[in-house]
Amino acid sequence: MTGTARLEPPEAVVQIARKLEEAGHETWCVGGAVRDALLGLPSLDWDLATAARPEQVRRLFRRTVPVGEKFGTIGVLDDKGVLHEVTTFRHDVKTDGRHAEVEFGASLDEDLARRDFTVNAIAWSPSQQRLHDPFGGQRDLGSRRLRAVGDAAQRMQEDRLRALRGLRFAGRFGLQIDDATWRATVSSASALHRLSKERVQQELVKTLEQVRVASQSLLLWKRSGALRELLPVLDARPDWQLRAADAVGWPDASAVEGIAKRRVQVRLAAVLCGLTARESTRLLTDIRLSNRDVSRVAHLATVAGRIRPVLGQGDLPDLPVVRGWASEARRVDFADALRVAMASLVAEGNVPEPVRVRWPGFYRRAVRCAWRDPIEISDLVVDGEDLMRSAGIPAGRELGEVLRGLLVWVVDDPSRNTRELLMERARTLLASFSG
Ligand code: ATP
Ligand code: MG
Repeated sequence: MTGTARLEPPEAVVQIARKLEEAGHETWCVGGAVRDALLGLPSLDWDLATAARPEQVRRLFRRTVPVGEKFGTIGVLDDKGVLHEVTTFRHDVKTDGRHAEVEFGASLDEDLARRDFTVNAIAWSPSQQRLHDPFGGQRDLGSRRLRAVGDAAQRMQEDRLRALRGLRFAGRFGLQIDDATWRATVSSASALHRLSKERVQQELVKTLEQVRVASQSLLLWKRSGALRELLPVLDARPDWQLRAADAVGWPDASAVEGIAKRRVQVRLAAVLCGLTARESTRLLTDIRLSNRDVSRVAHLATVAGRIRPVLGQGDLPDLPVVRGWASEARRVDFADALRVAMASLVAEGNVPEPVRVRWPGFYRRAVRCAWRDPIEISDLVVDGEDLMRSAGIPAGRELGEVLRGLLVWVVDDPSRNTRELLMERARTLLASFSG
């Protein structure tokens, strides 16, 4: 670790710290941003830790938000309305593996001592321009080591989430987990079911969001026993299936929120590709993903699971088959379904040569075809009302079946998408149902 050149918190953070110190309260930048800066990485959230009590912080600033007042965290809004977290020095008085009870009136050293890993327990004073690093976090960053602060086994018992956080940080920053910390992580695994499903989901999502080579963390979930405890269906899959998350593209987390979210979904789908729709749905529901996300991710994984074996046999099919896939995937999800299928194949190391060579061109043509050709019911030139009015088909189940039958017929050959041909075909289909 060299120098402190990058330890430059945003001006608003420096101002907040200055104001607190001028009022007589020692204040430091702490946590992730200090770590990231020392690694030469940009960071958005510069958290402050201060000797001031929450009520003193609130009184000192014009605009504040009670982010987590019980735990000592006040949000201070700067001139631009950006929120900065200011947390009173605290130490834990009681921990039960899930919740902590904290007490204020602690010193900086006590506050740092309750932090999880040495690399997360470094403080930076903007006014004194100096680091305070009582646990050797800089040394560990320099030798790329992840080490718990204090007694690893005890720290993991206090809060089971730390085991998962550690696996995330190790993958994210390429840190080697120190022996005692690793042993404590492995011993923690069997207690992880006590974490709430929401927290497990949060960790998994953060891992897929933040860890560039996500499988580095996911494989640690597996080796430590965490995966067996939390997501046994995934634990039973071969290692390469977890590596599929790395192969879907978008290696860089985008700052654009929509893209970041889509990347998580696609990475999740890649990891699930090959499971049945039911298995994926159950797993995702179990970790309390929103219904919307469950259905999109499970859908992507399922469609990709059907595309994958075709590619694996060296086939890049003709347009009618491609349209069938697109129709099943739905237009907006088709490109992602193709990427997931290919990622899974790449991760398995099983891409037939002709598929590898022709893939980029095939992918472009396939996606273009999905946006150009009729592949959804709403693309048909007739709709349900037409069919009721002009072909005399009553509303109900049969109408739906006729529409689906028409779509299959048109997907096979888009030139059939004319009113005349569809009406005729609709009558034939209807007759075949009653016949
Ligand atoms: P990220 O970039 O993911 O936000 P971070 O290190 O900032 O990484 P946060 O979850 O924002 O992580 O937490 C901020 C800081 O609070 C951490 O750096 C760490 O010092 C401390 N911390 C957070 N969670 C825990 C925990 N479960 N146990 C101990 N300390 C923790
Ligand atoms: Mg943070």
